Amino acid sequence: MEPAEGTSRRSAFYATRTISRDVVVPEYPELGLIAFASPNDPEPSIRVENGRIVEIDGRTEADFDLIDAFLASHGINPAVAEEAMALDDLAFARMLCGHDVPRTEILRLVEGMTPAKVARILGLLSPLELMQAMAKMRARRTPSIQAHVTNRIDHPLLIAADAASAVALGFRELETTVPVLRDAPLVALALLIGSQVPAPGALTQCSVEEKTELELGLRGLTTYAETVSVYGTEQVFLDGDDTPWSKALLASSYASRGLKMRFTSGSGAEVLMGGAEGKSMLYLEARCVAITRAAGSQGTQNGGIDGINVTGSVPNGMREILAENVMATLYGLESCTGNDTQMSASDIRRTAHTLPLLLAGSDFLFSGFGSIPSYDNTFGASNFNAEDIDDYMMIQRDWGFEGVLRSQGDDTLLPLRRRAAEACRAVLDELDLMTFDDAELERVVTAHGSLDVSEHQTDETARAGDAIIEREITAVDVVRALSIRGFELEAERVLEMTRQRLFGDHLQTSAIFAEDMSVLSALTDPNDYAGPGTGYRPSSVRLDEMARVRQERSHVELLAEQAPHAGCVVLTERGPAAIRPRPDEVVIGISPAFGVDVWLTLSGLTVGEALRQILAGIEEEGVHARVVRVTHSLDLGMIGWTAANLSGSGVALGIQGKGTALIHRADLPTLANLELLSMAPLIDDSRYRLMGRNAARHARGEKPSPVLLPESGEPMGPRYHAKVVALINRESQCLRAGNPQEIEVTWPS
Ligand code: CA
Repeated sequence: MEPAEGTSRRSAFYATRTISRDVVVPEYPELGLIAFASPNDPEPSIRVENGRIVEIDGRTEADFDLIDAFLASHGINPAVAEEAMALDDLAFARMLCGHDVPRTEILRLVEGMTPAKVARILGLLSPLELMQAMAKMRARRTPSIQAHVTNRIDHPLLIAADAASAVALGFRELETTVPVLRDAPLVALALLIGSQVPAPGALTQCSVEEKTELELGLRGLTTYAETVSVYGTEQVFLDGDDTPWSKALLASSYASRGLKMRFTSGSGAEVLMGGAEGKSMLYLEARCVAITRAAGSQGTQNGGIDGINVTGSVPNGMREILAENVMATLYGLESCTGNDTQMSASDIRRTAHTLPLLLAGSDFLFSGFGSIPSYDNTFGASNFNAEDIDDYMMIQRDWGFEGVLRSQGDDTLLPLRRRAAEACRAVLDELDLMTFDDAELERVVTAHGSLDVSEHQTDETARAGDAIIEREITAVDVVRALSIRGFELEAERVLEMTRQRLFGDHLQTSAIFAEDMSVLSALTDPNDYAGPGTGYRPSSVRLDEMARVRQERSHVELLAEQAPHAGCVVLTERGPAAIRPRPDEVVIGISPAFGVDVWLTLSGLTVGEALRQILAGIEEEGVHARVVRVTHSLDLGMIGWTAANLSGSGVALGIQGKGTALIHRADLPTLANLELLSMAPLIDDSRYRLMGRNAARHARGEKPSPVLLPESGEPMGPRYHAKVVALINRESQCLRAGNPQEIEVTWPS
């Protein structure tokens, strides 16, 4: 099709790229579509009278909205307010990134700052400086990661099996949600059981409407909560029938029953709800984070979250997201850093969003990595999902940052999935909630996602959910059922999660249970990063674990395909090669290991077949062919040039065991050549034959059209270079000094 008038084929091509599905907008401060420093943001200010805050960011007590009033009474420490607010913005920004001011001193000063002050300071930091601040300021020394474990049909056995897979991969918090609210109790119960199968201590939650969520927690069917949402403007807060005080009550309700809890906020939410009041996203988020701290929450899940695509639509959006995450750490909060919503259709763009945070480290690198396929992610696709797990493992291996996950094969995962599904089935049966037959259990064990299992009656799960509520089933009933049905280990682990609520060590800021049930928190594992050689570093054992990715192949494995083809051609040395015996010949120079230790070229042809095609091509042109082995060099240019100097026509064809081939002529410099086929993986039999014919034509003094490789956009290096190294190593082991050898070629019958 012809391009439209005034347009190019290139721009038509751009329109087909995934990035072109992302719609972005210019800044529009009146709607709150601005990441940093809206013209409507207030100037930072504070006034303290008789130990009371009477002015915040240009607003005096009489004009305080709900948020100002809450922060004045609970959020800003009047004892340090004047000192903190008098600090120069740039000087404080430098304190955040440098190593001479300790983290604790930053925390002390931020207690006295207003939201406008904090937002303005963070706006001064470059992406790299935000990463430095994140590394220094996050609460826990050891990073962790949270998974989404959901499926679109709320299949409880699949939830249990996927929870087990997630824990086996290294996730320490598992979050689920449901398309049908009535399913929530059943799904929460299944998640709890599956989460304790591979190792003890993973925390689980079910994100639903606040009353149900709290009830599930009180019954011990969940072990933490996260979706207690706060907002940066009074209007949006009140639209949800909430106030900072009601959220604080909820926070204390969880804490009073030994449940870990954090708040949720994130830029873009106020814009989406039409209540941004023209303020910048970072300023509104500063108010949210200040409320979170003031309400006594130990942590926050922020960094866009549901609003990420709004933030992503404006310039500097991703820098704002990172600034939000850093902001949480400035308040001493556990930082559960977003990445739970896919922010772009472009793989490059969504990876670029997440990578800086991965390198900087965070208490929770994801507030929801989709451990299940994106089609089963009922929160909506996460920025990374099951489809991306291997990419994530590889990036973790490349950089050696602590990404918390480890590769697991089916040999590990299938028995765990089976155990989880069986335990869950037994409990559901024991409690008269639901039954599943063996065939369905098998489908669950091997499933990639819910498309691989039965579409069971959703009403059945809903009725089971109702029954859990009506019969007041708790974690203790789950423990009893597990125990009766012989799942003693799982019974003990679920009971332990309940028992820990009486101790409450995991209510400290930024707490997780390690797999040995030790509590890692800001108290027991405080972040002590202060520059090179300090803070969390992966151990050598852990670095080894990260290196073991699914795609790793040992040297031996890379060469394993060679041996079966040994003897495909017999190449016998018949003494020193003759020098220019006849003018109508092409000499074929083969490399030291060709047909000795290397038998298969990178395109999958045997060296025998490649040689046969070359000889046939030369013969078709009526030219004589002779084979010599060059033993003193594995360099293809040198092999071809050496052979050319033995050739009566002065023309030779050089080939390595891996299949790379060229045509050379004696009068050319060594590093020049007539034709080169460097992409060995793309050279098929017809092209070797054409190379033979062209070499013969050159020998006759003709100028043939060069042999072209097929068009290919695939990068050859990542797929083949590790193998090239192994094959070249074999060539070098066959190197020996001395003159080229005449070769007699015979074919096995
Ligand atoms: Ca989450």
